Amino acid sequence: MHRKTPLKIIGSNAERTRLHNRKVVLGHLRSHGKLGRAELARLTGLSTQAMSNIIAELESEALILAGERQTKGRGLPAVQYTLNPAGAVALGVEVRPNAILCALVNFLGDTLYTKRIHIESSAPAVVLPAVKTACDEALSSIGKNAPPVLGAGIVMPGPFGRVGLTGAGKAELVGWDDKDPQALFEDVLQVPVRVENDATAAAIAEQTTGSATDLQSFCFVYFGTGLGLGVISNGEILRGAFGNAGELGHVVVERGGRLCSCGNRGCLETYTSRMAAREFLQKRGKSAENQKDLSDLLAVNDPDLEKWICEAADPLAQAIGTLENLFDPEAVILGGAMPPELLERLIAKLNLIDATVSVRADRTLPRVVRGASGWMTAALGAAALIIHDTYIPSISKVA
Ligand SMILES: [Zn+2]
Repeated sequence: MHRKTPLKIIGSNAERTRLHNRKVVLGHLRSHGKLGRAELARLTGLSTQAMSNIIAELESEALILAGERQTKGRGLPAVQYTLNPAGAVALGVEVRPNAILCALVNFLGDTLYTKRIHIESSAPAVVLPAVKTACDEALSSIGKNAPPVLGAGIVMPGPFGRVGLTGAGKAELVGWDDKDPQALFEDVLQVPVRVENDATAAAIAEQTTGSATDLQSFCFVYFGTGLGLGVISNGEILRGAFGNAGELGHVVVERGGRLCSCGNRGCLETYTSRMAAREFLQKRGKSAENQKDLSDLLAVNDPDLEKWICEAADPLAQAIGTLENLFDPEAVILGGAMPPELLERLIAKLNLIDATVSVRADRTLPRVVRGASGWMTAALGAAALIIHDTYIPSISKVA
């Protein structure tokens, strides 16, 4: 499966500047809630005339709303502008080996619709029409006068491209090896498409509506079938050259340890992941196929699950120490398809490394926190990524 890494906007021709300035204005409105024209001009360093043009353009596209006038100091009270939740929508789709999860969000990232569809195969010939139908249903759910669709975020399990890890993990989709998913999905959906891995999309969901709404730099450890990582640094997504940054599950934590599906030994996800929990419990005659099984075992304080939590906590704590030293995050968030109470217990058992750059006297947040998003996390995150692309994300630190 091939994936293009979008190029950064680095030019300065008029069109690019205009698009950039629009994004800056939307970013400020997003982080401040509401602002007047003069405040926007001051925050962005743009002239009042330039600001008036951008505001007129965004208002005509219904992406922003002019609200009440608000008095600030002397002079005529200023009109306050806000983002218009109903100004646009974005689609998010997570493709799993046996299911498609579809979400629709408004311009603020609020969820309007979600649905899970079972699929018999993850082959493109099955997935593409199923995604098209799911997206059509999502859009028709909000009525005839749906606002413009900004695009669709499609989440697929990485890694992308033929790399050493291809074939790793049991979450792999069949039949996509030599395909360009972005082009195929754009063809059937007829909207701009962005393909992202599940952990990164989940991290964005967590920043939009979850535990990271006030964070600019954080690591999101994602319990999918394996173990993924989304890194947000100063509001920007860390993606790597080929979109494959964050294969945390295949970081070796014990040399010569357990054999992993990737061919290496001692990978983190052979100890700490849903698969690892399932195998550990299966060996002890217990079923842990899904979140409910795990929740049921937790509810009765199952001693084998307790043992697994203790076993999983140690390599995870080591990995978290490494993430802290590598990325200097405000916090490490654990989330994904694990029961929240299991993540809480795992966090409680973490014996974190005493000396990392994250051990600071001025800390206000715990070093590790539990994610707040649910089972639709990656699909909602994929939709949120499309919204995320419409504004400059790291504005609050700049302002
Ligand atoms: Zn591995």
